[in-house]
Amino acid sequence: MEETIDIAAENKEIVRRYRRLYRQIRPYFQQGDAKLIRKAFNTALNAHKDVRRKSGEPYIFHPIAVAQIVVEEINLGPTAVAAALLHDVVEDTDTNIQEIESSFGENVARLVDGVTKLPKSEKDFSSNTSQQAENFRKMLLAMSDDVRIIMIKLADRLHNMRTLESMSRKQQLKIASETMYIYAPIAHRLGLYKIKSELEDLYLKYTHESVYREIAYKLRRTRVQRDKFIKEFITPIEKALGEHGFVASIFGRPKSIYSIYNKMRKQNIPFEEIYDLFAIRIVLESESYREKSDCWRVYSLVTDFYRPNTDRLRDWISTPRSNGYESLHTTVMGNDGKWVEVQIRTRRMDEIAEKGYAAHWKYKEQNFSQKPGRKPFQSHEAGLDAWLKMVRELRETNEKNGMDALEFINEFRSNFFNEEVFVFTPKGDLKTLPLGATTLDFAFDIHSEVGYQCLGAKINQKLVPINYTLHNGDQVEIITSKKQKPNADWLKFVITTKARTKINDYLKNEVKVFAQKGKDILIKKLKKYDIELDNDLIHHLRIYFQNKNVNNIYVNIAKNIISLHQIVTFKTWFKNKDKEREKEKKPQKTDENAPIPTPKPVDTLVVGDTINLLYELAPCCNPIPGDDIFGFTTIKNGIRIHRTDCPNATSMLSKYGHRVVKAIWKSQETTSFLVDLKVVGTDRIGLVRDLTRVISSNLKINIASLNFNTHEGIFEGLIGLYVHDVSHLENLRKKMAKIEGIVSIEREDK
Ligand code: MN
Repeated sequence: MEETIDIAAENKEIVRRYRRLYRQIRPYFQQGDAKLIRKAFNTALNAHKDVRRKSGEPYIFHPIAVAQIVVEEINLGPTAVAAALLHDVVEDTDTNIQEIESSFGENVARLVDGVTKLPKSEKDFSSNTSQQAENFRKMLLAMSDDVRIIMIKLADRLHNMRTLESMSRKQQLKIASETMYIYAPIAHRLGLYKIKSELEDLYLKYTHESVYREIAYKLRRTRVQRDKFIKEFITPIEKALGEHGFVASIFGRPKSIYSIYNKMRKQNIPFEEIYDLFAIRIVLESESYREKSDCWRVYSLVTDFYRPNTDRLRDWISTPRSNGYESLHTTVMGNDGKWVEVQIRTRRMDEIAEKGYAAHWKYKEQNFSQKPGRKPFQSHEAGLDAWLKMVRELRETNEKNGMDALEFINEFRSNFFNEEVFVFTPKGDLKTLPLGATTLDFAFDIHSEVGYQCLGAKINQKLVPINYTLHNGDQVEIITSKKQKPNADWLKFVITTKARTKINDYLKNEVKVFAQKGKDILIKKLKKYDIELDNDLIHHLRIYFQNKNVNNIYVNIAKNIISLHQIVTFKTWFKNKDKEREKEKKPQKTDENAPIPTPKPVDTLVVGDTINLLYELAPCCNPIPGDDIFGFTTIKNGIRIHRTDCPNATSMLSKYGHRVVKAIWKSQETTSFLVDLKVVGTDRIGLVRDLTRVISSNLKINIASLNFNTHEGIFEGLIGLYVHDVSHLENLRKKMAKIEGIVSIEREDK
């Protein structure tokens, strides 16, 4: 059967959906908004003309649906609705953001730009981070400027999740996982509880379909029984509320499928054993000034009928959660002996709980809070503002340290999606910190100087250390000392980005100061012996003190971990090395074209005073005849022969001097020794062939191993070779250095 599209019917449906949206947003219109919405709709309609979604529907259904969610479920106003209508225009069509700005103004354009993904071709970021992560980052950063951006994005995501059916399986899994990873937690954090629950349920539906269907089925099957229970449970409460003059709606609210699933999984119990498949909710009509006392009066009425479990009383009215949630929760014993959760809240609290941030603005605009005596929104506002402030701080860190997108997302998740603790300053100001935050995090949250000098704190009159984990309601008074300063251990006690960044900044700066001080000491000391601090000396410092980072050596000098005496010892060692190198240079005046001399019978070892002692060559430095060497008595492997410039030599010579035995090379029959050469050069075709030809055919040297790497035009090779002695190796090096493109050849220590 051939399907035909009825264009006329479709157009009618587009108009019907648009009209519904228009009716809903109209009450919020100010001057010019009617025109704005119409123009946004026409622009979107035109831009997406002839485009269809995967489901076959006209594309314009999607932006209309997103705008509908924005007005109906998030309560945003005309500007956001216009942006929602236009949200895919820049991303998916030829229209660019400048055109949007010139026809709709800066505000709409900023929102549209915030929800537009980075163009796929834009590759100005490092290649080891994914496009997906970059898009998240862009959106999360934009969010700290205008929280409506993320709300439109949530509406977009919600509609995409609702219509996920028609996507490919691969797309379904990708979109569903992203939703669970980042969008549902954001919805939760913004207090958009309903959207969060729906996103989680849809995630479950597409990723664990059979579990989802099973729970949904069992919920349906037990519904009649549950409704009967709820009716019996609420009847006496309803009556009592009426008698006390309360106007309230009271009903049973089923838990979301996802939260049931989560409970089954976490507690490892079957569906049948979950007692709280629903909660009873009492929503009161109440005046702002007596909201709190009304809620407690209702609590008192409920517990006249049902015995409460006092361990499970949650008062989020006196201290709202930082996402704005206000409610009084109690768990009481029902007539059948099972526990039932009862949630008591006012109409205003209920709207904030369901719709979060935006509902809060609605009440604010209606001057709902202008009653005497109380500012009911203060803590909600403070919580969200504190959160957005934290996002902005992370953004600054991100810009300063060039954090890559994946790091950013991880930081974001660990800082902003965790539950938080509420604590108080000595003056009684509320502070919100991530769960697990310590005294030190609190100190840095107040001010970095307070953090740097933090010794500990007085909490509820008791002294606690800097690593004390804060609890809800703690009143924290930080104790500081001018003598205190941060050290690297502090990084183990802090969990907030702010504290970690500040401590790292301090430590980095401290290293800089010490390194300069140590360097000055060294320069002054060496000057006495007419030695200059040049690259060659730095190279030998690294070897002698076994530290790759020369700054660490300077710091150790400044901190007197390396004593002046040790510097003198180093100087002596270095001067000796210098003489040897002078010697080595002299006999090297060979004619380049002359045939390479066949290896002479080489020296092997005399260890101690006899030739017959058992020994082996140390694998760490692979000495070959001609090297300066010493023997070292090991516990398991007899005597091992090391080069005196072996990276481990200093430690062995200084710590275990008594185990060192004299060793020299002695003429004997030809033996081969393994060395590793690191060859670096500019890459060209035929380079490897030329190298191997020089080594094996020309010099008749056996190659033990070959390893080549090319990266961005730079060639790096590691060649294991059998050579007879130092002069043999030197000859080879010279021949290799002649090959076009070779930049350096170095002996590699393992
Ligand atoms: Mn979209």
